[in-house]
Amino acid sequence: MTTPTPCAAATCSRTLRDTETATAQAVCTPCVDVIGVWLRELPLQITVLEGSRQRETTGASAGGRTAHRTAPLPGRADVLNLLGPAAWTDVQDEHGDQHGPLPIAGVLIPWVRLITEERRWNPPPSLAPEDLALWLAQPRPLTWAARRPWAGDMRDELHQLMRTVRSTTSLRPRRRAVPQPCPRCDSLTLVATDHQLYTECGTCGSMYTREELALAARITAATLDAGAL
Ligand SMILES: [Zn+2]
Ligand SMILES: [Zn+2]
Repeated sequence: MTTPTPCAAATCSRTLRDTETATAQAVCTPCVDVIGVWLRELPLQITVLEGSRQRETTGASAGGRTAHRTAPLPGRADVLNLLGPAAWTDVQDEHGDQHGPLPIAGVLIPWVRLITEERRWNPPPSLAPEDLALWLAQPRPLTWAARRPWAGDMRDELHQLMRTVRSTTSLRPRRRAVPQPCPRCDSLTLVATDHQLYTECGTCGSMYTREELALAARITAATLDAGAL
């Protein structure tokens, strides 16, 4: 037996399945899936960020009487920072002396640029973060990226970006508990997340498709029946 290859993402604890190594994937299929989910979620998050560009000025005058029309307060620094522009070529300095999190575009551009330069595919229509995200989310760039040695780094960077973005907007996909023990560790900590193909175990980090869980449930039921006899 060969030793299983770990998924190249530091933020993922899974090992690659035979079907994944056979197609030369560097990251596991759940990781590829979640990258697509994140990238398609970004345009929505950006809309919310745009909406909170200006600090809300009504909060201080809850009674309504003291509302005065002063100049709007400066925009929230964290929001402005995330929405900030980034240059196509200025990638060497990405971990340089910049303070705070990178703008969304600053995280996405190096990956888009790497792929377009290596594959000579047409770049996104603009450097707006939503255009960059949707370009990367297309099946062709995403599938190709998943087979690069840097796929794990891309997953880890996007994971960090989504954490920052979601904590800034307080907008998170809905998660719900799945009332079934994890087929691997038996904990009752399976969680399904909106738009994600995989249900994740909060204890051991295993990921399951709907079909795998249905199969596991049938096996459990069969075992219980056998035990009852
Ligand atoms: Zn993975
Ligand atoms: Zn588990």
